[in-house]
Amino acid sequence: MMKKLAILTSGGDAPGMNAAIRAVVRTAIFNDVKIFGVYMGYNGLIEGNIHELKLSSVADIIHRGGTVLGTARSEMFMTDAGRKKALDSLYNLGIEGLIVVGGDGSMRGALELSKLGFKVNTIPATIDNDLGYTDYTIGFMTAVETATEAISKLRDTSSAHGRANVVEVMGRRCGDIALYSGIAGGAETIFVPEEDISIDNLIEKALNGVKRGKRHHIIVVAEGAKKNAYDIKKIMEEKTDIETKVTVLGHVQRGGTPTVFDRILASEMGNCAVKSMIEGKSGYALQSRCGDIKLIEIERALSIKKEFKSDLLKLANVLSI
Ligand code: ADP
Repeated sequence: MMKKLAILTSGGDAPGMNAAIRAVVRTAIFNDVKIFGVYMGYNGLIEGNIHELKLSSVADIIHRGGTVLGTARSEMFMTDAGRKKALDSLYNLGIEGLIVVGGDGSMRGALELSKLGFKVNTIPATIDNDLGYTDYTIGFMTAVETATEAISKLRDTSSAHGRANVVEVMGRRCGDIALYSGIAGGAETIFVPEEDISIDNLIEKALNGVKRGKRHHIIVVAEGAKKNAYDIKKIMEEKTDIETKVTVLGHVQRGGTPTVFDRILASEMGNCAVKSMIEGKSGYALQSRCGDIKLIEIERALSIKKEFKSDLLKLANVLSI
């Protein structure tokens, strides 16, 4: 029977990481397993910054963004020597298994540990929703909620002045935040990294809108889209005469209280990650598919390509006609 487990959060932070930590800690203690928190991601493993967590260590955090364990990117962990030191820290404390909460980079790190014979399970947490093997990652819905709220506010001022607003949201490789917040915010046009959006379509929509008395034009742009927010502003002002403002949302999308969806996803995944480990199942990534929480081998999970939901982009185009 497993006696000691540890948890760390790594890579980019995401709202809901705390809810995952809470679920892991409480499930472990419920099952008479000691649980240790590793501070500052893989750096904390290397430096031995590891402390036992109690029930009260995770009190009053379910609703907080960020991560109480801190997070970091670790160059040292990318080296054999770094990973050896990390393993030594775990063995020195008699820890038998590790739960890693983070994005694809953190999962790759966990896979390396599991190849060295250490028991690891991973929980997907990143606002980008850029992991193909799971329908949703922890933090994504909260980021979409934040972006949508901002779009709604910009829509008010856009209507008041008869202006266009270009809103840049996060997403270097994955357009999901732009796609979901664009639909929820009723955007006229959405630019994503995965598809080339025609400028003619953007201009036609804006001009048709003006003709039928529309006073707002919301254009949502993922940061990794082929045209950036300032290019789009320039094109809009040159070709339509509509005054256009740019708002870059930036890191505000990383923070804030997690939505109900993210809290529940984190609670279920945290619970399942620990229960599976206790049952002897390690080397797995937690997955949400069609509402069910499942396990999939980490290596296989990482090999699944993220599919862009082109149908949703088509829907956005129809609804904003
Ligand atoms: P995220 O988990 O949000 O995708 P990163 O890509 O920055 O964030 O990864 C977080 C950390 O995971 C890195 O700083 C590094 O320490 C570790 N990591 C990433 N890729 C690997 C890898 N191939 N081997 C070992 N460790 C890795």
